[in-house]
Amino acid sequence: MSKQSVVETGYFGEFGGSYIPEDLQKVLATLAEEFDKYKVDPQFQEDFRYYLKEYVGRENPLTYAKNLTEKIGGAKIYLKREDLNHTGAHKINNVIGQILLAKRMGATRIIAETGAGQHGVATATACAMFDIPCTVYMGKVDTERQALNVFRMELLGTKVVPVEKGQGRLKDAVDEALADLVQNYENTFYLLGSAVGPHPYPSIVKHFQSIISEESKRQIVEKEGKLPAAVVACVGGGSNAIGAFSHYMEEPSVRLVGVEPSEAPTVTEGEPAVIHGFKCLTLLDDKGEPQPTYSIAAGLDYPGVGPEHSHLKTSGRGDYVTVTGDEALEAFQVLSKVEGIIPALESSHAVAYAMKLAKTLPSDESIIVNLSGRGDKDVDQVFEMLKN
Ligand SMILES: *Cc1c(COP(=O)(O)O)cnc(C)c1O
Repeated sequence: MSKQSVVETGYFGEFGGSYIPEDLQKVLATLAEEFDKYKVDPQFQEDFRYYLKEYVGRENPLTYAKNLTEKIGGAKIYLKREDLNHTGAHKINNVIGQILLAKRMGATRIIAETGAGQHGVATATACAMFDIPCTVYMGKVDTERQALNVFRMELLGTKVVPVEKGQGRLKDAVDEALADLVQNYENTFYLLGSAVGPHPYPSIVKHFQSIISEESKRQIVEKEGKLPAAVVACVGGGSNAIGAFSHYMEEPSVRLVGVEPSEAPTVTEGEPAVIHGFKCLTLLDDKGEPQPTYSIAAGLDYPGVGPEHSHLKTSGRGDYVTVTGDEALEAFQVLSKVEGIIPALESSHAVAYAMKLAKTLPSDESIIVNLSGRGDKDVDQVFEMLKN
């Protein structure tokens, strides 16, 4: 690669870039320029911090999981409490940042796509507060499966458009959102929900989510007087993990561990390919098409992964591991029982791996688990799974 920065080129090693039609290239080139300008703008930074504090409820705690640590033995387990954010997960951090950027860029309308509905709900929430009209594209099949999230978005004043084209799933919703953007780019901002997609989205999402590790690094040093041995986070598209890793990347003593469901091992078993407009590690079928994946955690069910994770894996800086759905389900119950914290099924994957890792480390070391979200949304599903 040349000496140009990631922000200029959009590449992380061989991954990332922007494999999209020319009219869209132009729209995203403008977005990249504006992002570069505002991310260093003091007033913009102040506004972002204001809403994180007053609306999201940051900073959230880094909780020492004393009971879990004592139950397992080994390294101290700390939980970064993204579950305590307004709307119950990390996604709102990125949504607030992108809406502020959209407003600076003069957009009067937000569009987004959503699969399970979590990003759609976070976007609808913040759009209501900022009083900016919002349209969310959602595969028709997903609107039927996630009827309650559709209702939530509508309650928040968002227009939900069911997409019948193709297979009526997330990919088709992305295509519709991109078509809308090309048509309406003069007044419309496309708000992407994870550290994926064509340049500059992975860099934008990382920037706004790095508040997680900015806080946790300060907090762990306050509590332990030194850096953690490892930071553990679940990986779907990769946004909570990249935010949790970001401020530790230049600290070689800190292991960065991304946890995937063994049913959707994109990073651990994927191969380089272009999907959804960028190059990443991905699971392909015999025909070279993205393979359908399944995880008990809807938010981890994505055939690709962010380009920076792809690079962290191939360069060796990141460790990527898998846990099974059963292990995550067990961790869901253990954390609920011993700490009184019901984790999201996504986050339960990270908890499950941390429980294995802690045992192998001495008691004067610590591990940070990014608790990406709360499990209230998953209680019905777990009830059904445990019944059988
Ligand atoms: C959406 C979601 C995830 C997965 O998305 P990433 O972009 O990989 O962070 C993980 N945990 C929770 C609670 C989520 O809502």
